[in-house]
Amino acid sequence: MRPLIAIRLLTLLAASLAIMMTFAGAAFASLGDRTLSQGSEGDDVLELQREVTYLGYPTPRTGNFTSETKSDIIGYERATGLSVDGVVSQSEGSTIVRRANEKRAREAQPDTAGSYAFTERTLRLGLKGGDVLTLQRLVTELGYPTPRTGRYTSRTKSDFRNYERTTGLNVNGVASRAEQRTIKRRAAERSSTSSRDHVFPIKGPHSYGGSGSRFGAPRSGHSHGGQDLAANSGTPLVAVTNGRVSQVRYQAGGAGYYVVIQGDDRIDYVYMHLRESASAFVSPGQRVRTGQQVGRVGSTGASSGPHLHFEMWTAHWFDGGHRFDPLPSLQRWDAYS
Ligand SMILES: [Zn+2]
Repeated sequence: MRPLIAIRLLTLLAASLAIMMTFAGAAFASLGDRTLSQGSEGDDVLELQREVTYLGYPTPRTGNFTSETKSDIIGYERATGLSVDGVVSQSEGSTIVRRANEKRAREAQPDTAGSYAFTERTLRLGLKGGDVLTLQRLVTELGYPTPRTGRYTSRTKSDFRNYERTTGLNVNGVASRAEQRTIKRRAAERSSTSSRDHVFPIKGPHSYGGSGSRFGAPRSGHSHGGQDLAANSGTPLVAVTNGRVSQVRYQAGGAGYYVVIQGDDRIDYVYMHLRESASAFVSPGQRVRTGQQVGRVGSTGASSGPHLHFEMWTAHWFDGGHRFDPLPSLQRWDAYS
């Protein structure tokens, strides 16, 4: 009898532990672990309220998803391209966490105390400063994207090694002063040769697809607002003309990662389904030059394979402008690529 009783007791204990862990799971869940809606409460609701406030949309931080939380979330969803329903799905929760983390990373500015100008010192793992940021910017502009953080991390080192290997420099992951001068010269040469008004948005092999890829092709409930261009994931996407970055955004169920550029020619250019946030390459408000990389081909959002969904708008995108067929322009630029 004794062993049997012991087993029964253990079973009971295990069951109550499971119940306790279920409650603890709700109370200590992280944002993105479950769907949150009016009536939800817990640490994840508090985290939601904190992060949305941090992202510039203040809402009371109580840990209770009240009707006020709901209306604030609706405001946030509407303003930032999420589905407007006042309900935070798991994927929306993850998106909000990612946005907040990206903002934190942007705000972690490199130290400028005791700063050096580019080419003044050898740059290597562990250093930080404006000159490291310049190196990361120039190498990115030259077609070898690397995160622009102002900190020479192991990622910077391996990306820079790759740049050294493919462009004939000394392959050691260290940017000597001579190498920095070479990079500065290469960047200057590149900007002087990109004097054409417009270039094709994809820098690499691509195809136009069939009639379903065209502007105006029927889609469920609407017509296709741009031209789809198939290309391998990771192919560089570049600014078709000089302009300013107006939007760097993400829309889970639609455009995925996308970027909008206001051309100096008074046309807005929209690039969708990017592989990662365009913030890896450009920031909202930043000036871009013709041919400058703004992202990479991907398949994020509502997309069945790597491609660029490309739109052209009269000034401005969702602000007084309207879409028009980009194909004639694309074919013209393509002919001179
Ligand atoms: Zn499309």
